Amino acid sequence: MPEQVKILVIDDEQIMRDGCIRILCKKGCSVVPAENGADGLKELEKSPEAFDIILLDLMMPGMSGMEVLEKIRVLDDSLLVIVITGYATVESAVEAMKKGAYDFIAKPFAPDQLRIVVKRALERRMLQKEAEFLRSERERSLRDVATEKSRVKTIINCMGDGILVCDRDSCIVLTNPAASRMLEIPESRLLGNHVSRSNLHRDLSETIEGSLRTEGSAYSSISQEFSIGESGKMFLRAHTAPVRNDRGEIMGAVTVLQDISYLKELDKMKSEFIAMVAHELRAPIATVEQQLTVILSSMAGELNNTQGQLIARAKERTRGVLTLIKDLLDLSKIEAGKMVQYKEPLSLAEVITRVAEMMKTDAEVKNIRIDFLFPENIPTIHADRNSMEGIFTNLISNAVKYTPDGGKVTIALNDHSGFVKVSVADNGIGIKSEDIPRIFDRFYRVKSSETRQIVGTGLGLSIVKSIVEAHLGTISVESAEGQGTTFNVLLPKAVGLASCGE
Ligand code: ADP
Repeated sequence: MPEQVKILVIDDEQIMRDGCIRILCKKGCSVVPAENGADGLKELEKSPEAFDIILLDLMMPGMSGMEVLEKIRVLDDSLLVIVITGYATVESAVEAMKKGAYDFIAKPFAPDQLRIVVKRALERRMLQKEAEFLRSERERSLRDVATEKSRVKTIINCMGDGILVCDRDSCIVLTNPAASRMLEIPESRLLGNHVSRSNLHRDLSETIEGSLRTEGSAYSSISQEFSIGESGKMFLRAHTAPVRNDRGEIMGAVTVLQDISYLKELDKMKSEFIAMVAHELRAPIATVEQQLTVILSSMAGELNNTQGQLIARAKERTRGVLTLIKDLLDLSKIEAGKMVQYKEPLSLAEVITRVAEMMKTDAEVKNIRIDFLFPENIPTIHADRNSMEGIFTNLISNAVKYTPDGGKVTIALNDHSGFVKVSVADNGIGIKSEDIPRIFDRFYRVKSSETRQIVGTGLGLSIVKSIVEAHLGTISVESAEGQGTTFNVLLPKAVGLASCGE
């Protein structure tokens, strides 16, 4: 027995009390005797929950058993009372049961009869205790859940990042003050509304709806950036991911919003600083390069062989720095949206012929042939002349740079349904397939024994791509290592303008 059972025996007959003590103590119970109702009640009042069972004689002088029973019920109606009755008082036993006694036993009784009745009552007592325990557990868990819920709500409300949770029907079911502040939408407009009807940025509501339709069970989070408000000064980054249950079914979507305005501002300041430094450096370095050219041409006096080599090397490095400065300035123009400033109807054949002509000197040094093929009547495009020159200078100079001596560069211009297509192909060193996806990234340069000696900034192709995209065109590359590379540029034809032949 884990806890000792405690039984109160209220009986005026000493012999009955002793008998009960003897029989029940043998079963390991602790028995407290009381010789009348008043004493019994006193014991109970001390601590009613200490007793598991009460054996109560109905026929007692003074306070009757029935009165005691009534008082016990008032004190604690869960107490189990077994009434002890005489032969002639079965009716009163029935009445006692009606008043809430649990069981009865008639006098005189054999020890086993008492044990059976007590055992039954004890089983009932155990069930009572278990039920009580389960009830209190349930209440505690409900309390815990409520506390946990309010704790999670408090945490979410205190978070600096914005939170938006949608159910599977795209209805917003949870949000926090940060989300409402960042999105500049009141919480009442967000909560309970469909994402498409809560004034969310269109890209964000489309992403949320898209993530609710995500196929497969892989975790797929989508990040996006957008600006908020008329001033466009507030920039947000949103990470949206579907929420799945343990069977992998989508239950909703959660979006975390971060205010990245200060990062954008910092980025802008950095770009402006770089642009300023590049701008300030360009003039003095260009002067240095010119002076070196003058010295190299012996206009300032004859140079011996070693001096010539040193000055030539210095000039080459200076030219590298000038290219870097030019690329940095182009980059900052692109970032400021000023790269493509003036669009006009343009003949690409004319632009490319000029660029190819300019590149010829560099190509001849390496004994590389540049061919430019184009049919007549190529349609015009609507583009910025300087930007177009920039694109093809970059692509053709790359083709010359990354092609060994004696190689060949072929430029082809063609009408390609709604576009004009330019291919710049070389039979040079080529690009490994694993490098291809990265060559348009800023500052990415392929590192190999062949490219080590070639000067470059890793900015050219990223600038080319930005310009092509600003003209609503596309650029792609095909390359095989050791065999050559072809860049294909598609630019939309000018709409409503006549083609101009060369
Ligand atoms: P870089 O200043 O290094 O030439 P780019 O952005 O123009 O920078 O090109 C990025 C990288 O792509 C180069 O470093 C080079 O490894 C590779 N690449 C570009 N054009 C070619 C080409 N025609 N043939 C082989 N590799 C090329």
